[in-house]
Amino acid sequence: MKDRILQTAKEIRADVVALSDAIYANPELGSQEFESSKLHAALLEKYGFKVEKPYLGFPTGYRAEYRSAKPGPHVCYMAEYDALPGVGHGCGHNMLGATSVAAGILLSRLVDETGGWAVVLGTPAEETNGAKVEYAKRGVFRDLDAAIVCHPTSVEYYKSGASLAMETIEFEFFGKAAHAASEPEMGINALDAVIQTFNNVNALRQQTKTDARIHGIITQGGEACNVIPEHCVCRFYVRAAKKSYLKHLHEQVMNCGKAAAMATGCKLQMRPFELGYDDLATNERLNQLFIDSLAELGVTEIADPGEASGSVDAGNVSYVCPTIHPYFPITKKNVAGHTREFAACTQTDYAKDRMMEAACAMALTGYHIVTEPQTLAEIRREFQALK
Ligand SMILES: [Zn+2]
Ligand SMILES: [Zn+2]
Repeated sequence: MKDRILQTAKEIRADVVALSDAIYANPELGSQEFESSKLHAALLEKYGFKVEKPYLGFPTGYRAEYRSAKPGPHVCYMAEYDALPGVGHGCGHNMLGATSVAAGILLSRLVDETGGWAVVLGTPAEETNGAKVEYAKRGVFRDLDAAIVCHPTSVEYYKSGASLAMETIEFEFFGKAAHAASEPEMGINALDAVIQTFNNVNALRQQTKTDARIHGIITQGGEACNVIPEHCVCRFYVRAAKKSYLKHLHEQVMNCGKAAAMATGCKLQMRPFELGYDDLATNERLNQLFIDSLAELGVTEIADPGEASGSVDAGNVSYVCPTIHPYFPITKKNVAGHTREFAACTQTDYAKDRMMEAACAMALTGYHIVTEPQTLAEIRREFQALK
């Protein structure tokens, strides 16, 4: 089977590389990936996929399916293709998306015999308001057995690890303006409420778990020194390793704002200002299957990603479907992500070789899922235990 996948990979390579290169040359920001998503859909259609686009009201989202006439598991590859302001494809999503498309096409060549579906989901705006959050909420993954995405990185392959759960809060305080020198007693100081919120949060830090991250900014702090500020706003990201603890932490941070409002006499409105992300709960059985598939292709050096640092929208998927988010190297040197240098790495032959290799491992993982009921049962058992 490995040889068949490798042979097909050779046949489709030029198309997959052209997809990645075209998107590199025309980087589009999140939710504006009109050309990129069109190119994805066109290539998948060329290889026999049925494509629904736009998808779930996302103009740049899509769902592409290749259904076998025989029943069997449904394997999903998640594609991203959004760029960053200023640094283009500094996160390498031009290549990430092409890798998922390639994996989908490779698996589609096998499912007529084995049964099952190959599904590629186009998921816009990972860097900002990740569509996967809404997809997960709206039941997109209900009929899918596994969700796989493999992200470009430097130096080594990395196993799928963890990411931080994250919530956002905006505190908007409403006080009362007054002459700051002649009638301060007539005013209600909304800036004091903001400062008090920060002080409360700083006091809270002593009692949080070590994985808690709370970081904020003041977006409105008053208009003039001689006017008691009547309307001030601050924003926070709150993160933790697990969404169960984050729920508690998020409440504690909201209480910091409520207490500040009470102490100062301000009125308070709170709201999320961006989508929150769940932590990534890697399915370890699926992770192992991917590692074994890489080993079948001769890749045995796979590093451990270590502790979670950032947040990804695949986290939300991991709570509704067995999910992995491993990494493949596109450069032998250590190049920082979110830079023009990293984007340029996607243009090298080395990166293109690794992209096809990762796609083959993803397809092989899919092949094992559709042909080994025992393995899928283990993946499912682990997933059920997460709930
Ligand atoms: Zn990124
Ligand atoms: Zn990324």
